[in-house]
Amino acid sequence: MRTVLVTGGAGYIGSHACKALAAAGFVPVTFDNLVTGWQDAVKFGPFEQGDLMNRARLDEVFAIHKPIAVMHFAALSQVGESMSKPGLYWQNNVMGSLNLIEAAVAANCMNFVFSSTCATYGDQDNVVLDENSAQHPINAYGASKRAIEDILRDFGEAYGLHHVIFRYFNVAGADPDGEVGEFHQPETHLVPLMLDAIDGKRDALTIFGTDYDTPDGTCIRDYVHVCDLVDAHVLGLKWLQDGKENRVFNLGTGSGFSVREVIDHSRDVTNRPVPVVPGDRRPGDCTKLVSGSSRAIAELGWKPERSTLRQMITDAWRWHQTGHYNQ
Ligand code: UDP
Repeated sequence: MRTVLVTGGAGYIGSHACKALAAAGFVPVTFDNLVTGWQDAVKFGPFEQGDLMNRARLDEVFAIHKPIAVMHFAALSQVGESMSKPGLYWQNNVMGSLNLIEAAVAANCMNFVFSSTCATYGDQDNVVLDENSAQHPINAYGASKRAIEDILRDFGEAYGLHHVIFRYFNVAGADPDGEVGEFHQPETHLVPLMLDAIDGKRDALTIFGTDYDTPDGTCIRDYVHVCDLVDAHVLGLKWLQDGKENRVFNLGTGSGFSVREVIDHSRDVTNRPVPVVPGDRRPGDCTKLVSGSSRAIAELGWKPERSTLRQMITDAWRWHQTGHYNQ
């Protein structure tokens, strides 16, 4: 059987990736410390609890499962937290990833798919963000991911570690079958917080900044459906299996939506009012992050067919109302 080690497989994106991998005939082995993930989300293959900081545990899991590839999702990913606790991000994300990469090379598992972020680009007004854009992260989250990209390049040069790097824009939506979905504790992301406000689980959504230099004053992001995103990962794995070059791919649709536009779409989809209050800017937020690349479509054959705002909010709303994990 073709086994893939999925770090963070109990998390939001990792759990959807496990489902996509299983559907494509792979055995996804989840490696997760359950700090932000949910054991209930591990439904599509074996589970190995462990922490990336524990090299011996990583070596053990590589020896047991002999994966043909690693998909590395496990990370702390909150922009705001990364600004107040940068050490956490350098320890967990960078040191943890270095351990994982070294363990993979030691086990001769030489195919590596990495989840990076558009936050590595930073705030670049009026610049089309493609894979060749300069990377000037303005928060520790983006800086930690850029550092891991550098580690991968170095290990590619030195040991032939074969890798694909995906720079995600904003991920939203949920599995349309309702088997897995987005659930963070505490929640910090726009769409689930907004759905909480819509159904009264919180008083209101705070809009982080209404004085940005954008048409309605709120930040603009490029939203991509989690199912489309993980499909790209399966294509990335195939890319590596086909022996193609190490490559970076943006994963975004090229369409930007402001926070207020996301709110308006949510009102339409749910047919309910969205209680909002204007608030201060969140430290570390970029004004606008929109992908200017179709490389993934052209080279990987990626088809982001579910990534309309309406579809993402519809799927997220369904999950919000019916899906859950035991806490
Ligand atoms: N946002 C907001 N209120 C919230 C959470 C997020 O206005 O309670 C905004 C945030 O400033 C950003 C966008 O929504 O412009 C997406 O934020 P999220 O945390 O979902 O993702 P990020 O862009 O940080 O990866």
